[in-house]
Amino acid sequence: MTPPSPLRLRIDLGALAANWRWFRARSGVDTGAAAKADGYGLGARAVAERLHAEGCRSVYVSNWREAQALACRPSDMRVRVLHGVDAADLPAALSVNAQPVLGSHEQIALWRAHGGGRPCDIMIDTGMNRLGLDWRGFSADLLSGLDVDIVHSHLACADEPAHPLNAVQRDRFAAIAAALPGARAALASSAGVCLGTDYAFSHVRPGIGLYGGVPGPAAAGHIRQVVYPEARVLQLRDVPAGDSVGYGATWTARRDSRIAVLNVGYADGYLRTFSNRGAARVEGVAAPVVGRISMDLVAIDVTDTPCPAAGDWVGLDYDLETAAAQSGLSQYELLTSLGARYERVYL
Ligand SMILES: *Cc1c(COP(=O)(O)O)cnc(C)c1O
Repeated sequence: MTPPSPLRLRIDLGALAANWRWFRARSGVDTGAAAKADGYGLGARAVAERLHAEGCRSVYVSNWREAQALACRPSDMRVRVLHGVDAADLPAALSVNAQPVLGSHEQIALWRAHGGGRPCDIMIDTGMNRLGLDWRGFSADLLSGLDVDIVHSHLACADEPAHPLNAVQRDRFAAIAAALPGARAALASSAGVCLGTDYAFSHVRPGIGLYGGVPGPAAAGHIRQVVYPEARVLQLRDVPAGDSVGYGATWTARRDSRIAVLNVGYADGYLRTFSNRGAARVEGVAAPVVGRISMDLVAIDVTDTPCPAAGDWVGLDYDLETAAAQSGLSQYELLTSLGARYERVYL
């Protein structure tokens, strides 16, 4: 018998779907979903199935292992592999129902020779200097013999709306998209969608915003929280004024305090930066984290909250925008560092 999990992620798939609909409405074009890193830590399969029900037909992963993990998705959901394909991937690539986003001359040559005429996407680098064919030398002839579905590029600074590189990349990309009238074109991630419809082209690839991240000012007030980490109370203690809590004795009780010890720690992605900064909620009332986060344990001050009992579930404050400001971590890191010990509970 499997013992019960002492910590869980409640994942609000209704909020995920609402966030996806916001990106579709805002962009006005066909909308996919980035679901790499196992759906940013939420479970790529559940994400893909829920968004399929909303009308999403493209899901992005990084590599062929992630593509394979999505093999049981609805059959008309296209899985697109952002890192493309190399010789070692080929057997998997030809057996899994997914298509590569080709990003180099070598990858193009490989797919032309061995892809069996299957569709592919293309990534063009327009100034980020990460993945993709350099925009400078690009000509449509490079793609002859390929069945190109979507031509992509990716913005380096979309989260800074005033950054001049945004418009520069858009204009470079527009010229390339115009040279490929048979393919669809996609430039925008979540933050790119926020920049406006002149960044939307014919398809968009939001990720973080689907999962509750606020990618830009335009999204403020429109994105719903999706992920709620919760842990069980292991123990309650009375800590007299003057005593300290946790490693390094970094917190000292100024009054007689009631402390609850929770079954979650930095090994679960609740990183040490939340020491003396984070908070949990007991029946809606904030209970601040006191002392340093341990590998598997956190102490919270419940002196002023309704008193939980050992075994009760307590939610950690994990609104991504607030938690990012509190911790200095990015909203992406906050999601993808959540460890493997959570039981995922989909709502
Ligand atoms: C991860 C990724 C996205 C999604 O980005 P978000 O910032 O999470 O919206 C879109 N496109 C590419 C190429 C990516 O790697």
